[in-house]
Amino acid sequence: MRREILVYPDPFLARKAVSVAAVDDRIRALIRDMFETMYASEGVGLAATQVGVGKRVVVVDVSPVDETIAPVAVVNPEIVERKGSVSGEEGCLSVPGVQGEVCRAETVVVRGLDGEGKPLQLQAGGILSRALQHEIDHLDGVLFIDRISTTAAPAR
Ligand code: ZN
Repeated sequence: MRREILVYPDPFLARKAVSVAAVDDRIRALIRDMFETMYASEGVGLAATQVGVGKRVVVVDVSPVDETIAPVAVVNPEIVERKGSVSGEEGCLSVPGVQGEVCRAETVVVRGLDGEGKPLQLQAGGILSRALQHEIDHLDGVLFIDRISTTAAPAR
């Protein structure tokens, strides 16, 4: 089921999400819905916060940018290691029409649970690293426009 994506300045986007106690049928349904909603909007990542659910769940599929990277869902994601720093352009389904350069860690190690509740560890660089950091920020109520160095005019 496709869910509605909240748009800035919806106050829910500034809320900090809580940890998921157990990956049950409700969480699995949420993950399915989040993938469906993300694909329908042609995004490469989505956080539960963006569909009005205050739980720590993100989905990322950067295959439109790098087809070698498989889609991933992470429950209770935690960045346990950051290395380097790199600037790159970002946009967000919750902030339509705005793009900007954001400085992020170059590579990250993310730990959490997969869609079945099993422990997961991801070592990410490039677009996957950027997408994971962007989505995990959402769970802490942080938008990319809060981190932007130069605001570009709406693209196109
Ligand atoms: Zn976003």
